[in-house]
Amino acid sequence: MNIVILGPPAVGKGTYAGFLSKKYNIPKISVGDLFRRAIKDRTELGKKIKDYVTSGDLVPDEIVIELVKNRLEEDDCKRGFLLDGYPRTVPQAEAMMKFKKIDVALNFVAPDEVIMERIGGRRTCRKCGAIYHIKNVPPTIEGVCDQCSGRLVQRSDEKPEIIKNRLVVYREKTKPVVEYLREKGLLADVDAHYDIEEIDKIISQCEKHLQKLS
Ligand SMILES: [Zn+2]
Repeated sequence: MNIVILGPPAVGKGTYAGFLSKKYNIPKISVGDLFRRAIKDRTELGKKIKDYVTSGDLVPDEIVIELVKNRLEEDDCKRGFLLDGYPRTVPQAEAMMKFKKIDVALNFVAPDEVIMERIGGRRTCRKCGAIYHIKNVPPTIEGVCDQCSGRLVQRSDEKPEIIKNRLVVYREKTKPVVEYLREKGLLADVDAHYDIEEIDKIISQCEKHLQKLS
């Protein structure tokens, strides 16, 4: 089962992929992790990636493609994989169709308001780093950490206007890829608006899509 995972920031892709990875016993591969590992191991590709990342540029398609191709050729991917963070562009998607078959692209969708509330409600302790949520995981005393009495603050990248912008950028960038995969008949939408306590409702939708494959 070769599965590609799509979805906006904070929709919970990592969590769902972790669940599916255990259930189907296939590796979960994140392109962000591959970048970090290549940089740390100072491989040829890693050195190039580091240059782009340090200068704030996007890593070009041919480098991302080679990195992912190499990883998917490893033994643990023979029975399948869950790939998060790829393809991000149409050329990346086209390249992948040549070296590995994509069985399905699970596209996790949730309304902007849901994502805004999930991230926008987060509060982080300045002292110990504990994370709260004003609605879902509130501290006993407002604005004060239960564990260390530190002050709870909203991180600057979790402010509403920043999240809104990240969502706009995500949509603009991935729209062509989503359309491409839809045209190929590979896209499977998963309604991910549920709270984390209701994760079963999200996983069961994934399972329905995956059952059609076997
Ligand atoms: Zn604390």
